[in-house]
Amino acid sequence: MASQVYFTSLRTGYRNSLPTKIQRLALAAGLEDIVRKGGLTAVKLHFGEKGGTAFIRPVLVRPVVDALLQAGARPFITDTGTLYVGSRGNAVDHLNTAILNGFAYPVAGAPLIIADGLDGGDEVAVPVNLKHFREVMIASAIVRADSMVSLAHFKLHDAAGFGGAIKNIGMGAASRKGKMAQHSEVAPKIVNKKCIGCGLCVEQCAHGAISIVERQAGLAAPSPSVSKVVQIDRKLCVGCAQCIHACQQGALTIDWDTDFPKLMEKIAEYAAGAIKGKEKRSLFINFLTQISPACDCYPFSDAPIVGDIGIAASKDPVALDQACVDLLNKSPHLPSSCLKGQEHYPDKIRAVYPKLDWERQLIHAEEVGLGARDYELVEIEGNKR
Ligand code: SF4
Ligand code: SF4
Repeated sequence: MASQVYFTSLRTGYRNSLPTKIQRLALAAGLEDIVRKGGLTAVKLHFGEKGGTAFIRPVLVRPVVDALLQAGARPFITDTGTLYVGSRGNAVDHLNTAILNGFAYPVAGAPLIIADGLDGGDEVAVPVNLKHFREVMIASAIVRADSMVSLAHFKLHDAAGFGGAIKNIGMGAASRKGKMAQHSEVAPKIVNKKCIGCGLCVEQCAHGAISIVERQAGLAAPSPSVSKVVQIDRKLCVGCAQCIHACQQGALTIDWDTDFPKLMEKIAEYAAGAIKGKEKRSLFINFLTQISPACDCYPFSDAPIVGDIGIAASKDPVALDQACVDLLNKSPHLPSSCLKGQEHYPDKIRAVYPKLDWERQLIHAEEVGLGARDYELVEIEGNKR
């Protein structure tokens, strides 16, 4: 049976402000069904990187928080730390960035909690027994929450093709170790020419996987006087990524898994783990606004590739993401974006990323039972202002 995806346009007027429409959309999609009175509800979103501008504005998060409060829930707004060293790599930087981006309590209406703790290590192993993972490492505050509302800014993504509900809870609810397991074949990559052999990373490794060794002749070095270099024992490394954050020289990086279909499948399996136990107590809302051509984790947001489309919501994250891809592909592109010229782009994701088979994310999400790609679009207010 087709899943229902509710949709509202962005037309507004005196009786229908956007916050009012968002609240009606959330209620139509079943927000009251997914919460228990007094239950802690994780409102999972992306606070935006410092310099990024396409994330969901806090004033548009508030109506969802208010609806949750009215339904008797105790909402908190949450995200997890990043793998890369940006402005959200630990809870302190992350909260400072969130506040800088406008997520102050008086605006958003609920406390901010970094779901995987101070340094990305507060996690719970959730058994899933799927193709790539027997268990997935999910941020503890998300596992312990009674229910979840995913608020995702729908956009293109340079590794997953697009980022919507599945990616928001798949990669976005994973602890640092969980992100590492999705992104790479575990151990960080060493950039020999940047390593000064300082040993800072050794102290951070709880698994004894790092040592400092004599630099062999011919190995690139920052300067001829640097005689030591880092070495990682891949058998001992568990991929927690702590050392990446410890290195001030940028000498340890994520070994980005170039097998993108595999990455997409891993994201889908993590998404299944993130909602395990609250499959009936999760709601997904995607904002099809400022649809930028790349991930919100960059410290900038490039020009949107289409005009703003609307907001969609469903209890089925697969149906929701499929509907959003279809809405995107039906919209005329903006020649002021990276999709230049007058040509029609029936598949805008492939137009930007020709080598990414973005459908893999949806196909595997359906295979692991996260939802169905078949959907019925229910316009709750049409173009009513
Ligand atoms: S990723 Fe974690 S386990 Fe692996 S070397 Fe770095 S700190 Fe050690
Ligand atoms: S990888 Fe970074 S922290 Fe580790 S020894 Fe090299 S420069 Fe120092």
